Amino acid sequence: MKKYDYLIVGAGIFGSIFAYEAKKRGKKCLVIDKRSHIGGNCYCEEVEGINIHKYGAHIFHTSNKKVWEYVNKLVEFNRYTNTPIVNYKGEIYNLPFNMNTFNKLWGVVTPEEALTKIEEQKKNAGIEDPKNLEEQAISLVGTDIYEKLIKGYSEKQWGRDCSELPAFIIRRLPVRFTYDNNYFNDKYQGIPIGGYNKIFEKLLDDVDVKLSTDYFENREELGRLSERTVFTGMIDQFYNYKFGTLEYRSLRFENEVLENQNYQGNAVVNYTEREIPYTRIIEHKHFEFGDQEKTVITKEYPSEWKPGDEPYYPVNNDKNNELFKKYSELAKKEKNVIFGGRLADYKYYDMHHNIHNALSAVKKEFKEK
Ligand code: FAD
Repeated sequence: MKKYDYLIVGAGIFGSIFAYEAKKRGKKCLVIDKRSHIGGNCYCEEVEGINIHKYGAHIFHTSNKKVWEYVNKLVEFNRYTNTPIVNYKGEIYNLPFNMNTFNKLWGVVTPEEALTKIEEQKKNAGIEDPKNLEEQAISLVGTDIYEKLIKGYSEKQWGRDCSELPAFIIRRLPVRFTYDNNYFNDKYQGIPIGGYNKIFEKLLDDVDVKLSTDYFENREELGRLSERTVFTGMIDQFYNYKFGTLEYRSLRFENEVLENQNYQGNAVVNYTEREIPYTRIIEHKHFEFGDQEKTVITKEYPSEWKPGDEPYYPVNNDKNNELFKKYSELAKKEKNVIFGGRLADYKYYDMHHNIHNALSAVKKEFKEK
């Protein structure tokens, strides 16, 4: 008899939900994480009484009613609605591109006027077969929006000129002909009251958790503790990078505590001029309508990734997708390992996708309909 039914590698959303559901079904789990805290990338660190989204701003949004009901049983959510703004050389515009943006850019008032303006710009650019990201963006929304709101931001994001970036990165650009500043189209959104950690405390309550424990440094010993493993780390590392290394884009965060109560009047402000090295500033207190005396802001800098850095965004180009396929073929043959989450699937997931996936994995594991 092994000590646990499941060894779960990773205390992020996927691992924690699996543990919670397995526990409900009478199973004993050990959750390990190489970090010193639970919550994975959703983890919040409290500074000056404000929940700081340590691994990047997280806004919960979904149209999946079951997922929304599921998380609301765990914690209460506030009414936060993401309405980011753009600062381009001191000019402020609304996102996603909508009637407020068009009005500010061109003085147009009606949707018809805005549409005419965009069509005119697209026509003047005369691009029929876009060969790079610059041409693709102009062919979708015209030159003004591209120059002020897309160009610098994308160049910082990817570390290259838009004319050198492939067109496929932007397949479509959301353009909205209403005065609606809500960034997401989803039915439900919000931030857990008291921060994301509350969700994980609930999920892992009464589950054995070992932090600051890297699976790969303790693989044999951990393997002896349970027959079955749920693995939410990097799939290429699981196979010792035998086919090669999957690539990511990374981020660097710079936090500042400021003495003023309200720095930018909004949680998310994107900086779209290339000369400013960060892509956005997050003022965390606005996610929870905080009225603390001080404020904390985070400047977000995109950065090249090298092995050992924090892997944030998978680079799903042909080369990496081919490589992932090879690893995933091996994974399919594993009898006692369940792979899940963003690192094992080498895919960008929003939180709600991950919750859905974890619940599906549970159903499959416990042979439920
Ligand atoms: P993770 O949260 O990464 O958890 C995996 C855990 O496994 C980590 O804690 C890690 O330390 C641990 N681990 C890895 N390897 C090992 C090992 N060898 N040994 C032990 N432990 C290990 N989603 C939204 O819905 N809304 C948003 O606004 C949003 N914003 C985002 C912003 C950024 C910058 C990023 C990168 C993602 C964002 N997401 C957002 C996506 C969201 O973070 C993910 O969907 C989700 O948190 C991933 O959960 P996970 O369990 O798959 O992975």
